[in-house]
Amino acid sequence: MQTPPNSLAALIQAVAFAADKHRNQRRKDAEASPYINHPIALANVLANEGGVQDVTVLCAAVLHDTIEDTETTADELRALFGDQVASVVLEVTDDKSLDKAVRKQLQIEHAPHISPQAQLVKLADKISNVRDILASPPADWSPERKQAYFDWAAAVVAGLRGVHPGLEEVFDGLYARRLGAG
Ligand code: NDP
Ligand code: ZN
Repeated sequence: MQTPPNSLAALIQAVAFAADKHRNQRRKDAEASPYINHPIALANVLANEGGVQDVTVLCAAVLHDTIEDTETTADELRALFGDQVASVVLEVTDDKSLDKAVRKQLQIEHAPHISPQAQLVKLADKISNVRDILASPPADWSPERKQAYFDWAAAVVAGLRGVHPGLEEVFDGLYARRLGAG
């Protein structure tokens, strides 16, 4: 059943739904953290560092990897969370039938053209991932690979500029720390 759009109940339902969908997945850090920590981190960045109160954005942040990385369909999200949330999640979902290098290039090219709500989710995703690479990176990543990721993330964020200057500053602060990341 669809919860009232933009409600606190919808946000809690999104957290429960994402936790269930990602229940058997782990992040790539040495400790293999529970996957759900990452979608929750995005919502936390948006709400508590960015002051974002738009529940559609917070729900989409929590759900942002469900279509890409689990069996979840857009129809399922539409039925539970409504058209708007489903549409924002689709905007931040890569087409996995494409080669990884193409997908990464398309993220750079598409960033300026997606909705502001999707831009906020994407910005929070890049903040969360560069933060993870600084604090708890994938165990086997060389300094060069970390650097390549930082530079690609910065190229995506360049296309989002203006959507939220405060969060852009958070990203810039993390990017500036990359050289000490080793
Ligand atoms: P990957 O796409 O393989 O890994 C990064 C993604 O993993 C993130 O975007 C994030 O995605 C997810 N993730 C899970 N756990 C973590 C964590 N602890 N910290 C950060 N991210 C995590 O990386 P890339 O292919 O982008 O590699 C980075 C760069 O290195 C590239 O630019 C590439 O050119 C270069 N490179 C790539 C190689 C390869 O085999 N792919 C080999 C050598 C170099 P999400 O938010 O969706 O969970
Ligand atoms: Zn993500």
